[in-house]
Amino acid sequence: MSKDYYNILDVSPQATDEEIKKAFRTLSLQYHPDKNPNGAERFKEINEAYQTLSNPQKKRVYDMQRNSGGGFGNSSWNDIFTSTEGMFSGFGFAEDMFERREQPIQPLEVQVFASIYDAIFGAKKQVSYKRRTWCSSCANTHSRCNTCGGSGIIVQVKGNDYFRVEERTHCYTCKGTGSIKQKTENCPTNCQDGFILEDTTLTFEIPKGIDKTGMYRMRHAGHESPSKRGQRGDVIVKIVEQAEENYERVGNDIVVTQHIRYIDLVTGTKKTISLFDDPNLTYEYKINKWFDTDELIKICDGPFMSGKTYARIKLYIPKQELNEEQLETLKRICED
Ligand SMILES: [Zn+2]
Ligand SMILES: [Zn+2]
Repeated sequence: MSKDYYNILDVSPQATDEEIKKAFRTLSLQYHPDKNPNGAERFKEINEAYQTLSNPQKKRVYDMQRNSGGGFGNSSWNDIFTSTEGMFSGFGFAEDMFERREQPIQPLEVQVFASIYDAIFGAKKQVSYKRRTWCSSCANTHSRCNTCGGSGIIVQVKGNDYFRVEERTHCYTCKGTGSIKQKTENCPTNCQDGFILEDTTLTFEIPKGIDKTGMYRMRHAGHESPSKRGQRGDVIVKIVEQAEENYERVGNDIVVTQHIRYIDLVTGTKKTISLFDDPNLTYEYKINKWFDTDELIKICDGPFMSGKTYARIKLYIPKQELNEEQLETLKRICED
């Protein structure tokens, strides 16, 4: 053992997490380079010791190594852990720390389309999708996984002459189960390796006032586990807001496009609007004389959360041919 982290922090190997934390605080204050110009080296050591002893996983491996009297030369513990980040690193003796267990079932993703109205007021939607389900004719047919030899674990040895690191990962072929489901000979169903794709429908309730990019998890409605019949993964429901003609959502605000005639712009007018054609959402608003169409007019507060609703005014140009007389009048009006 190149360094005894317990000695460095001046605590016993039986010290509690709280005692380790307290010792670290006291020592790091004492040796902080700002306070103690000669403390830099010691300060670094204290930090290194605390990094390991304050992390339950690192501490457990360190204690096992310390008790077995092994050493790591000058390698820093942090280096070893960092280099195997993302995977669990065993050191030969850590067999019990990596149990064989089935990997979580891959969630199934479905999309639910929601209008702005649905997003504001909530809605019930039916979603149909296909999910992996055991073929009942092939329910009892399995074979041992060839990739991992049935252990569900793949071991890779890395390292050099001084130390060896065994990296253990769950087998990607059998997803850690050790066995592969198979199709029975003469299966009357047209199944794929013992599974069928079952059509299913679920009812999803869009909550009121959802965000445009809402994602929801429906527990146990997805694919069936490859090893345990009846156990299902989750479904991730992704809300996709559908574009709606003349309606636009900007954060919590809603902008409604309103077309008006030229005469209304010249004289000013009052308009009535039923938002989303809902009579309960009927409002009146005023367009002033010579209104600048670049501006928005507030219609009401709400109906979406703390937002407001605005009208964007667009000029309606009727597509009709004008006769000679009408054209002359129009020209006269437009002459400035
Ligand atoms: Zn089958
Ligand atoms: Zn396997």
